[in-house]
Amino acid sequence: MTELYELTISEAADLLRQKKISSVELTQAHLDRIRAVEPEVRAFTLVTDELALKQAEEADHRFASGERLSPLTGIPIAIKDVISTKGITTTCGSRMLENFKPAYDATVMKRLNEIGIVMVGKTNMDEFAMGSSTEHSAFFPTHNPWDLERAPGGSSGGSAAAVAAGMAMGSYGSDTGGSIRQPASLCNLVGLKPTYGRVSRFGLVAFGSSLDQIGPFARNAQDAALLLQAIAGNDPLDGTSSPNPVPDYSKALNGGIKGLKIGVPEEYWVEGTQPGVVSAVRADIERLRELGAEVSPVSLPYTKYGVAAYYIIAPAEASANLTRYDGVKYGYSYRDTSEMWDAMEKTRQFGFGPEVKRRIMLGTYALSAGYYDAYYKQAEKVRTLITHDFEQAFEQFDVLVSPASPTVAFKIGEISDPYQMYLQDVFTIPANLAGICGVSIPGGFSEGLPVGLQLLGRAFGEESILRVADAFERVTDYHTQWPKL
Ligand code: GLN
Repeated sequence: MTELYELTISEAADLLRQKKISSVELTQAHLDRIRAVEPEVRAFTLVTDELALKQAEEADHRFASGERLSPLTGIPIAIKDVISTKGITTTCGSRMLENFKPAYDATVMKRLNEIGIVMVGKTNMDEFAMGSSTEHSAFFPTHNPWDLERAPGGSSGGSAAAVAAGMAMGSYGSDTGGSIRQPASLCNLVGLKPTYGRVSRFGLVAFGSSLDQIGPFARNAQDAALLLQAIAGNDPLDGTSSPNPVPDYSKALNGGIKGLKIGVPEEYWVEGTQPGVVSAVRADIERLRELGAEVSPVSLPYTKYGVAAYYIIAPAEASANLTRYDGVKYGYSYRDTSEMWDAMEKTRQFGFGPEVKRRIMLGTYALSAGYYDAYYKQAEKVRTLITHDFEQAFEQFDVLVSPASPTVAFKIGEISDPYQMYLQDVFTIPANLAGICGVSIPGGFSEGLPVGLQLLGRAFGEESILRVADAFERVTDYHTQWPKL
């Protein structure tokens, strides 16, 4: 018999409806799993066990009353610690917010609570979502369940590790430049970044406001569709959220990709990509061809400027967004002085870690008089060119495919140069700059470690990438593999 924590969300939802299991049992199985493996994985900044059992009981009452419920009702889910949870600490992996309890829920959280999910905990992350390894949490690094000496990727590494280790059935993260897709790739999960505007950012602690999106981690495409469905849609509290109607994502999973046009961007096969990653992804692309997709090469010539433009734009926005942490409004406050400027300076000196300070300095510099035209304006022009690249490609193709990350999971401590760390997102960043959607799915293994296959879709094309993901799962078993923990 499979363990309860090994079920997919849709399997568990069926069993809950047939009353073969209760949400309390399902939740307890996950809390037991957390007790068993969390001391080694360290995916959570906070395990909300009491709350989880209370929510599970409520879900069981709702099932008993015969109410029509969402497939996520009563399902144990983990939430990245960048998503505001009313009255529950939301640290962003930072000393600055170590004791911060938001006064309201993020819109995403509000919707999930209405559905009646079970929140098992808040997950660890690189401080303020800046990083690709979850080593740069102010508290502790998270370990990759596939090899505990390795990083799970980041910045949403806690959300990825929690699902990969069976401590939650699904989770949510945020993706500004790759923070959902890259950890999904390193942990053998489906990780989806929705189109910019598809999901409300209200209550998501801001990093790069024109790039940030919340999205799900799941063990298969079907679960990812359910998790996306629950959070997608317009929100009057977020002026950048789209009024476009939300399709039924599960309906898109019909297995058929015959005749679908898939482009393989030539610029995504760069030097520095591990040969094991290249060969796995090449084989995956052949699989898609065998399934009847029409696969051909496409050129996205401005790709090579993506990382450079991102590391101007994201820090510029971050430097503005992080001015609010001044020791007065939220979080940590340095009190051993009577001088106001001294208090603010020391608050920021002690409250922020080195990577956050680096981003604030980069961003402030790029936005300062005299440098604005040379850096920020240039980067915004590059962003427009990258967007045009995609627009042209999507005139001919439905979906583009590439590796999600240039490497498999690396050892904790292995990448010490910040620039090397930035290159982890070379394949994911362009989608954030262009605002399109993307997903990383389990695409095979290299030396026993997971390789992610990235599928990119046009704006509001989540159905296409989910359809391809699901079709691919029907002929492969990578997504069913578990780490030995
Ligand atoms: N690794 C990238 C960065 O550090 C992306 C992070 C993210 O998507 N939040 O900026």
